[in-house]
Amino acid sequence: MRAVVFEEFGQEARLREVPDPVPSAQGVVVRVEATGLCRSDWHGWMGHDPDITLPHVPGHELAGVVEAVGAGVVNWRPGDRVTVPFVCACGRCEACAAGAQQVCERQTQPGFTHWGSFAEYVALEQADVNLVALPQELSSATAAALGCRFATAFRAVAGQGRVAPGEWVAVHGCGGVGLSAVMIAVACGARVVAVDVSARALELARGFGAVECVDASAHPEGADGAVRELTGGGAHLSIDALGSPVTCAASVRSLRRHGRHVQVGLLPSATGDPVVPMARVIALELEILGSHGMAAHDYRPMMDMVRAGTLRPDLLVTATIPLAAAPAALAAMGAAPGAGVTIIEPYGERRD
Ligand SMILES: [Zn+2]
Ligand SMILES: [Zn+2]
Repeated sequence: MRAVVFEEFGQEARLREVPDPVPSAQGVVVRVEATGLCRSDWHGWMGHDPDITLPHVPGHELAGVVEAVGAGVVNWRPGDRVTVPFVCACGRCEACAAGAQQVCERQTQPGFTHWGSFAEYVALEQADVNLVALPQELSSATAAALGCRFATAFRAVAGQGRVAPGEWVAVHGCGGVGLSAVMIAVACGARVVAVDVSARALELARGFGAVECVDASAHPEGADGAVRELTGGGAHLSIDALGSPVTCAASVRSLRRHGRHVQVGLLPSATGDPVVPMARVIALELEILGSHGMAAHDYRPMMDMVRAGTLRPDLLVTATIPLAAAPAALAAMGAAPGAGVTIIEPYGERRD
């Protein structure tokens, strides 16, 4: 098959022929119809993820068709259209037994712990625990964003964030996960303040229902002051969807009393631990939460809102590129994350 492979961290990946994957006993091989280009892929390529061994194929948010199944797989067969959370759970550890597959103790992640979906085929583990059936009306390009950024945003806003109608929600960083969070918070009845340095990203956020937009480039020390002013004292819920020391601290300082901060953007230890303003956490009795993907069995409410048209992940897709364009797009992700979601279609044509 053709796959995007990198041999060294930070050195341009190449599209080349590699052996086709074969399914493990409990796993499947999926023919990749669409796979999202995510900032986590860039972190992996830069060497920020300790799980990655070289050479490596990135890609973790995908949709496609089951091509082959392992002997032990019960619920899936070739031809099924599926997507998968980027955290593939083992199904047997204590976290999995408690229903928290998104923090499984023995998780696998395509594109991190093994070769991912910037390829014509990808192997996925523990198919009966992790695969999610795609409704007929949902395109693969739309579904690809669900496995990481959209599902992660859904759990961050509705799950960990416990958003309620009428609340103020601040979203720091309006890339793929941030725009998803804006759309989901608006659908849940919240009033959203979107924060980004890019005018294009803020324009998209406004289109998805953000009532206030803050240009963070005018606030290099953090946009929290502007957020507190616009929200009459601070947001009830604030999300760092980018993952940087500045946005993390600004998100915490954006909150009113008893507010909730949810960290979604990755802050890899390799780039240094951020300083969290803990004095403020104590004084205002803030909650600091993390959010790490979403378990396959929790997809139903999100899928129902997508099918009903209340959530429109299709509108997040702003570019579609072929595999051959993926190496350059991956490299560009660090400097300019780009507005919206870029989808790679291994069997498709360039459209943007
Ligand atoms: Zn587990
Ligand atoms: Zn991702």
